[in-house]
Amino acid sequence: MTALPVREAPSRALDVAAIRAQFPILATRMRGRPLIYLDSAASAQKPRAVIDALARFYERDYANIHRGVYELSQRASDLHEQARTTVARFVGASDAREIVFVRNATEAINLVAYAFLEPRLEPGDEILLSEMEHHANIVPWQLVAERRGARLVPVPITDAGELELEAIAERIGPRTKMLAVTWVSNVLGTVNPVHEITALARRRGVPVLIDAAQAAPHLPIDVGALGADFLAFSAHKVYGPSGVGILWARAELLEAMPPWQGGGDMIERVSFARTTFNRIPYRFEAGTPDIAGIHATGVALSWLLGLGLETVRRHEEELVGCALESLPRVPGLRIIGAPRARAAVVSFTIDGMHPQDIGTLLDLEGIAVRTGHHCAMPLHERLGLSATVRASFGVYSTPAEVTALTEALARIVARYR
Ligand code: PLP
Repeated sequence: MTALPVREAPSRALDVAAIRAQFPILATRMRGRPLIYLDSAASAQKPRAVIDALARFYERDYANIHRGVYELSQRASDLHEQARTTVARFVGASDAREIVFVRNATEAINLVAYAFLEPRLEPGDEILLSEMEHHANIVPWQLVAERRGARLVPVPITDAGELELEAIAERIGPRTKMLAVTWVSNVLGTVNPVHEITALARRRGVPVLIDAAQAAPHLPIDVGALGADFLAFSAHKVYGPSGVGILWARAELLEAMPPWQGGGDMIERVSFARTTFNRIPYRFEAGTPDIAGIHATGVALSWLLGLGLETVRRHEEELVGCALESLPRVPGLRIIGAPRARAAVVSFTIDGMHPQDIGTLLDLEGIAVRTGHHCAMPLHERLGLSATVRASFGVYSTPAEVTALTEALARIVARYR
């Protein structure tokens, strides 16, 4: 179960035209126009390799896993464990037992909140979070805090939309039992200095969960170098299928955690008097998982590793650069936040127009953007906004699409504002 070290593809530019040809949905039309998909932060589109892997698995390899003595079940089980090894390679884990398959990043964070943190929480304890967290990295902690009489301590962000180490250091105290922070903000695009944050927390003996839901599609991950205790992300944002999430956790922490959900596959022996539990990671994988989806997740991550995360990052930096240069030319448009490091997300408002209307009018031009609070209500409150428009990019996004967005916004403003 030992994973290979992460290998980065050689430095080169992405052949975006060739990549786009691999995404059937990008050839479709919306509202009679070519689809311009700028909502990859919500969910990425799927390459042919992933779509075919799903179909092929159901056609040739499908059976329930870990249970059958027959060849087909064994083949499905082998492919399942191969996917685990690929995920370990993707995050730089040396031990595939540290990969737990769940339904999504949200469930991974809930697992840590209930199985790891809740038993350790006492009244008056504190859980540190940043003001820029997605609800998935707020509400699970809040629920366990309420059950134990503990409380959330938000770490403020700067007006530029950055998280500063000093602000975290000031708030870590003897009652701090957990630090949970996003690597990349899903609204501001801010890339947080997670390596420094985890080093700081470890010096103070505080366990750290990194929400990598928005980092995994854009940045190379090496949990060895990261120094965190837990890392969560969803397959659907890294070009894989929906319904699969990944929790990476240090093996010694998983070993020490009680089971979270009970059922088949997570047990060793069951009697009405007593149940003993399976080894990790299976102890945390009760019931039949999304077998085909997990297989296709491995295919998606191999595909992304094949492009090279450094190469992907450079491509998306170019797109963000285009957006930051061209969008402010739209009269009344204000970009939200000005972080020094920004991943493939740009949110904005336009004076005198509601984000919802902007999204609807863009849709009429075949442009898909996200509008609303993006599951980050506390962040919007901090910014003094109820909603924003968010454009987000993936490996298939092009500077021409950014230009098309800018031109469409300029037309909308001229016509409706
Ligand atoms: N964390 C961040 C930063 C996100 O952007 C999201 C989803 O948008 C999540 C967590 C939750 O992901 P999921 O809905 O796949 O569980």
